[in-house]
Amino acid sequence: MSVTVRFCGAARTVTGSCYLLQTPSGRLLVDCGLFQGQKTLKQLNYGAFPFQPADINQVLLTHAHIDHSGLLPKLVREGFRGRILATRGTIDLCSYMLPDAGSIQESEVASLNRRNSARGRAEVTPIYTQADAIDSLESFQPVDYESWIDVMPGVRARYWNAGHLLGSASIELEVDDASTSPRPLRLLFSGDVGPDGKLLEPDPKAPSGFDYVISESTYGDRLRTPTSPELRRQRLAGEVRDAAAANGALLIPAFAVERTQELIADLVDLMNHGEIPTAPIFLDSPLAIHATEVFRSHAASLDPAIDIDRLFNSPNLRFTETVDESKAIAKLTGFHIIIAASGMCDAGRIRHHLKRWLWNAHATVLLVGYQANGTLGRFLQDGAKAVRIQGDEIKVAARIRMIDDYSGHADGAEIARWIAARRPIARGLFLVHGEESAITGLAERVAERIIPTAKLFQPVLDDVFELSGTAPRLLDVTHRRRLTPEAVTHLDWHNDMSGLILDINDRIAAAADDRARGVLIRRLRRALESEG
Ligand SMILES: [Zn+2]
Repeated sequence: MSVTVRFCGAARTVTGSCYLLQTPSGRLLVDCGLFQGQKTLKQLNYGAFPFQPADINQVLLTHAHIDHSGLLPKLVREGFRGRILATRGTIDLCSYMLPDAGSIQESEVASLNRRNSARGRAEVTPIYTQADAIDSLESFQPVDYESWIDVMPGVRARYWNAGHLLGSASIELEVDDASTSPRPLRLLFSGDVGPDGKLLEPDPKAPSGFDYVISESTYGDRLRTPTSPELRRQRLAGEVRDAAAANGALLIPAFAVERTQELIADLVDLMNHGEIPTAPIFLDSPLAIHATEVFRSHAASLDPAIDIDRLFNSPNLRFTETVDESKAIAKLTGFHIIIAASGMCDAGRIRHHLKRWLWNAHATVLLVGYQANGTLGRFLQDGAKAVRIQGDEIKVAARIRMIDDYSGHADGAEIARWIAARRPIARGLFLVHGEESAITGLAERVAERIIPTAKLFQPVLDDVFELSGTAPRLLDVTHRRRLTPEAVTHLDWHNDMSGLILDINDRIAAAADDRARGVLIRRLRRALESEG
């Protein structure tokens, strides 16, 4: 029996990381992440897995981010009975992040159902609940970095610090297989790979000499502005001073975990040194508050140069855990800083603050992380003049700013160097976890220079490759695809529709008078009718 891999997620997208590895002795998953971003992808979270959860023997989890771990509670609820192997840092973070994700599912579905019942549509049930998420935590089992563990007969794994997030790992696998016997088939799943010189984390680490490497490509087509701790703090200080001069709120949408702690460390430090005006920094995220505690307890494994305790005890830092406290911030005027999740603005308390401030030219929104296709954060980054938040159209007058320095991902050059350091790669390099342009960009960067083009593969969602030959072989799975490859890579009609409605509103609002508006509306209607 041969070894196969199925790309159940993160193929030509950055979300839903999940790989199904079929070995002679059983099936294992690497990651089981939630799809985020465009609606067509998010819909997959509600559908059936492309495998039977009860048939999966073990899960190997690279790190706690929801796009890697977020469907684990559903997997357990639907019959998975194995262990979820993860580092202690990952387990501690998941113990807050998964229940939080469950409560987000519950509240999003509750508000969707209120709208659905007003429109006479059927009720939706959440993908999983907070209780499901808490139940799933029982399945976790800790592993140490850099020591071999027996996953199941004939399969061994070793975790390496990927330098992307507290607890993050690249996972090395050895699978007994006839095609390489007497030696095992060797694979490496990159997980998300951190940049060099990242605040709080070491540089990524992994061995070399594989049959297959499955590598992320998030920033494969980008080169980040060179950074250092000093440049990073200077750029942040510049943005904060400009926001203070504009005299409105500075909203920083941030992933609750790690990015938030990095920002707090730098903001407090800059205030302590008088490099930015002193103002309250609201950490408006219960999850970020809990994650901050996890960071305190893992301080020994983080950068010793940073005094986490001192920075996190700053009197300028206010934790707003309850909804009432969060609502109270919305009454503030003038310059203050609000850090809230989610980092891509597609969920969480940041949406309330955006609703309150986006139309206001005194406000600043500072984007500090990757914004996936189809997310509100991406629309803002791309310069949208108006956006929709929970059904309401909001004009964008706030200053939209971006800085790259807090990225948790290696850029194109760094990821290419990471791949080069894994050679020899005997049979194939799979590029995953990136949007199409990022994957193409990374492929161009590594082809021939680092690996022969013939050994380079760019799988699409639900592709299955047999790995036991001298080269990977794509198996025919047309009948088992959940989405066409085009549906994954192109913005779906929901986004086109929102864009069209906003454009129509804009044009009508801009028309000279009511008569001109009437003419425009009649012309639009004629265009619609001629289509019919
Ligand atoms: Zn990640």
